[in-house]
Amino acid sequence: MTTSAKHIFLLDSIAILIFGGYFAFLSVSLATMHLHPVTTLIAALLGYVLADLISGLVHFLGDTFGSKNTPIVGAAFIEPFRYHHIDPEDITKHGFVETNGHNCLVSIPILMIMTHILLKYVATSALAGFALATSYFLVLGVFLTNQFHKWAHTPTPPRFIQFLQHHRIILSPNHHRIHHTSPFTRYFCITTGWLNSLLDSLNFFPLTKSLLRKIPFMLKPAEEYEAR
Ligand SMILES: [Zn+2]
Ligand SMILES: [Zn+2]
Repeated sequence: MTTSAKHIFLLDSIAILIFGGYFAFLSVSLATMHLHPVTTLIAALLGYVLADLISGLVHFLGDTFGSKNTPIVGAAFIEPFRYHHIDPEDITKHGFVETNGHNCLVSIPILMIMTHILLKYVATSALAGFALATSYFLVLGVFLTNQFHKWAHTPTPPRFIQFLQHHRIILSPNHHRIHHTSPFTRYFCITTGWLNSLLDSLNFFPLTKSLLRKIPFMLKPAEEYEAR
């Protein structure tokens, strides 16, 4: 392992520990709020769907704009997305920390905001309670996304995971294969993939791409840097 890889591993490990601490605190807090089961179910579904949408947007940005040589975000953010299309099975060799550390890192500021909401508003506002529960399941979905993506590429995942994949509760390999098929510009959502058909029918990602291209100083599309 190179020195910079060791630093990234250490940073990811710390992020997982901090994430775990916040998450345990929020889990206990949520349990003691005694939300109505229907409210909790709606919040869980909404949070899970939002996680799928965020996974699609982040994945779309990583695949579509800039290059691995782009300053700041190139090596850390864009390169892993591009390499995943060169060697889709490489993700299955990643350990727990490498798979989940980055998502924990980006979730920590959201967890801090959630804790602030919890401590300040939840006792007096039902809406704040619902927002907190939704955010909780959103963060959980974001945390699980890379793991679900990894399992979608794993030849023989555990049987329970195969059950979840088969029933489309998590990203299924067959569904995700569409993204890894030319032209590689569809089905970016990788938590559950539930939103992919809808976004595809709305032409969502091509429209977002043309919209983002109009923003001054926006990175150029990937095809203008390198052949895919
Ligand atoms: Zn991709
Ligand atoms: Zn993939």
